[in-house]
Formats: sequence, C-alpha cells, structure tokens
Amino acid sequence: METQKIGLLGGTFDPVHNGHLAVAKHVIQALKFDAIWFVPASLPPHKDGHGDGREISSFTHRIAMLERALRQHPSYVISDIEVKRSAPSYSIDTINILLQQREGQADLYFIIGADAFLEINTWKRHKELPTLVNFVVISRPGYPPDKVGEVIRHNFIDYTYEPSNATWSSQHSKGLFIMQQMEPVPISSTEIRRKVRRGEDIAGLVPQTVEDYIKRQNLYI
Ligand code: ATP
Ligand code: MG
Repeated sequence: METQKIGLLGGTFDPVHNGHLAVAKHVIQALKFDAIWFVPASLPPHKDGHGDGREISSFTHRIAMLERALRQHPSYVISDIEVKRSAPSYSIDTINILLQQREGQADLYFIIGADAFLEINTWKRHKELPTLVNFVVISRPGYPPDKVGEVIRHNFIDYTYEPSNATWSSQHSKGLFIMQQMEPVPISSTEIRRKVRRGEDIAGLVPQTVEDYIKRQNLYI
C-alpha cells in the first residue's frame, strides 16, 4: 500500500458549516491530500456543553448533518472513531488508534483552526502530538498568526520557522506545523445556532441540505 496523505479535521460540527467545507477544500488543494477525514467528537450532551447554556446535539444529529454536507465529495470521509470509545475522546488516543489501523501506511495531518490551536496546551499529552502527526494550522478571522508561533515555541522543543514554505520544523520530532492562510470565512457554529434560535436566516452559511435538516429536526431552537 502506498503511503497516503490524510488530513484529519476534528470538531464538534454542531452544525457542520461552509467554513469547515472551505477549510477542507483549501487544504486538499494546497497540500494535495488523498483524503480528509472529518472526526466529530463524541461529547456527552450536558447542559451548557457549548458554554452558552446550551446542550451539544446528539452524535446522531451531527453525523446526519455531516453526511448531507459531504455527500458530493468523494475525498471527504466521516470517521465515527470517537463514538466507538467511551467519552471523553482525546486527540492523542484517536491519533494512536488511526496510526495502528493504518500500520504506518499514512502520513497524518491534523487540521486545526487558529482559535482551537491556541488552546492546545490544555490537550491531553499535547507535547507528544508532533512526534505522531503533522499539523496544518488554518488562519481564522480574529486569531492572530503571531500568537500561533508563540504557542509552538512555548510548547514544543526547538521548532524554528521557515518563511519560504510557512512551516515550523524541529530536530526533535518529525511532525511539522504548516501554516495555511485561507481567504477568511467568517462563519461559526455558534453564530449559526444563535441565528436559528432567533429565527434568522442561515442561508449561505451551511449547505442547503443541512439547513433543511436543522429545520425539519427543530435543532437549536
Ligand atoms: P463552535 O462555534 O461551536 O466552536 P466552530 O465553528 O468553531 O463551532 P468546530 O466544530 O469547533 O466549529 O470547528 C472544528 C475545526 O474547524 C476547528 O479546528 C476550528 O478552528 C475550524 N474552523 C471552524 N470554522 C472555521 C472557519 N470559519 N475558518 C477557519 N477554521 C474554522
Ligand atoms: Mg470551535
């Protein structure tokens, strides 16, 4: 089996939106990935799961929306790996399982928005992550790229930046941190949930099929 380049896009996806799709499209083109796996987190529903007093939608709903959003894209795959384990699911465990399953026949690239990356120091065993995978850090409106560099220098050993390919590398671990500037897409799931709650239009923020699903299932109201 030839080594495949696989991008992993983890998230809550409550709901998946056009920002996620823009990220996937950008990286698959820029970095020539063979596939992108969308990995929804199996967060247990609890009051204030989103930090705004709201519960996170069931895994079933979030998967159903991903299926509708990704239907047209043969290179996009939905991974249910995190629901097969007991929650909470940590990225380090997910990555180790995927590497075992692929028996080393894949180069994994963990795709992450700048907002989420700035909190990486709160992740379980985060210092080990770049010994296992590469990172692709995507710009996101409101999160300065300088801060991303600070986080890399502060948490991972001996990383230096090469401007010609916008990549951080180190002698100590094989994982790279690849910076990707994307045309800003100011869309978030938080904003979509808020709009639905207020009865506002979400056309253009999510695929039509996802909008229909949200309405039919009365999500976020
Ligand atoms: P929420 O508002 O509920 O946090 P979200 O829009 O941030 O939702 P997540 O499911 O948390 O969506 O995001 C999954 C991943 O996609 C994260 O790494 C996040 O940074 C990235 N991402 C989401 N939306 C965008 C966007 N518009 N531009 C760049 N990256 C994004
Ligand atoms: Mg988020």
